[in-house]
Amino acid sequence: MNIETLLRELIRIPTTADHPERLKEVVDVVDHWFADWTRHKERFERNGKHSLYLNTREGRHSQVLFVGHLDVVPAEHSEQFEPRVEGRRLYGRGALDMKGPDAVMIRLFLDLMAQSRVPSCALMLTTDEEVGSRDGVEWLVKEQGIGADFVIVPDGGSSFRLIYAEKGALHLRVKARGKAAHGSQPWLGDNAIDQLIRAYQALRQWIDAQAQPEDPEHWYPTLNLGRIQGGRAPNIVADEAWMDLDFRFPGPTSPREFLRQVKEILHTSGNFELEDLTTAVPVETDRDHPLFQRFLETMESVLGRPVQLAREHGATDARHFAEKGMPVVILYPVGDGIHGPNEWVDLPSLDTLYAIFKAYVDALPS
Ligand SMILES: [Zn+2]
Repeated sequence: MNIETLLRELIRIPTTADHPERLKEVVDVVDHWFADWTRHKERFERNGKHSLYLNTREGRHSQVLFVGHLDVVPAEHSEQFEPRVEGRRLYGRGALDMKGPDAVMIRLFLDLMAQSRVPSCALMLTTDEEVGSRDGVEWLVKEQGIGADFVIVPDGGSSFRLIYAEKGALHLRVKARGKAAHGSQPWLGDNAIDQLIRAYQALRQWIDAQAQPEDPEHWYPTLNLGRIQGGRAPNIVADEAWMDLDFRFPGPTSPREFLRQVKEILHTSGNFELEDLTTAVPVETDRDHPLFQRFLETMESVLGRPVQLAREHGATDARHFAEKGMPVVILYPVGDGIHGPNEWVDLPSLDTLYAIFKAYVDALPS
């Protein structure tokens, strides 16, 4: 089966989180493609999320690790699970995010099976990235000890830009407690919404002071107030309120250090109860690392042009490897429309992605 055929097979399985049996099915299908794999192979399952791990060496460490997820976000219409080709483009849910890159990596490892000289590399395929990766990459890296000298996550960026950094994230719920009173006598109460507004203004000021408006990449901390709720009626002093904040920040600041700074600011404006909703470690891969340098050179020689190095604001699975100190890169072939009704991937660019990966692993010392 060529890359396009593999991709079509993958897209036809609607692997959304609300269909756990499909998540198992897709891993069974891929596992079956590797029925003749005589080297290290492991199946994992946690909370109904299935994963597959292939390594050309024994154990859970490799020189290079390729990482993919086989789950997708729900489709806008069911035809998205029937792949459709128009010219160079293949349309379908997951074509770019990321069954296209999955098909490339699967083809790569199928081809490695036939080689006599095989470099040290591994493939990890999970089924819960779109719902947070807790039972996939996060668990496999933190609890199962899967690791590598260099990690490739073809699940971000665009058109072969090479992503070496991603901002960290801190999602925080700030809860305020006040004292109810009649709205006509607010001096008898303590308004929890007022407390939140004061806290938000202090945080806003602190964040805005760090902005560099002339930086087109916006590579500085940002804050979004995504949700605020509280109070009971116009004529009651609000005794309860909370807000959800989304902070993004560049490395090397850790989420723990960033949270410490946030707490310091909050402390100056009152007493709040905090709930950590999510944290993501920033990614900042050393561009002088030899395996990074070699990957960049391989890309440039296959593409026949200079490659743009770039940083991204969103977080991917790369963060779990960065947290363990592993150098990691992120890239995408050509395509567009992820999570939308017209997701597509450029088919020839999948062949290019394959050529990059193949040249890279073939040049690794065995
Ligand atoms: Zn993805």
